[in-house]
Amino acid sequence: MKELPNDQHITYQLQYRKCGKTSCSTCRTGQGHGPYWYAYWRDGSRLRSGYVGKIPPTQPAPNPNSSTESAPAPHVEDFAVLSALV
Ligand SMILES: [Zn+2]
Repeated sequence: MKELPNDQHITYQLQYRKCGKTSCSTCRTGQGHGPYWYAYWRDGSRLRSGYVGKIPPTQPAPNPNSSTESAPAPHVEDFAVLSALV
């Protein structure tokens, strides 16, 4: 997995991908593997992308390489509001 920049605005998209193997029935009969999360961001004038995985980027992933910086987590508040409504 590529290092995602933390000083760029990253857009996340849930996408299917085809592996390209002719023997793969998943790609032949469907829209491919996934859906998986992909991150997109701008690097100068270029659009870069990185594979995130099956776990949505808004949830903490069990990744030892992930940054331990205290990033703002607005989604936690959303969860609190949701559980209060239930
Ligand atoms: Zn495939």
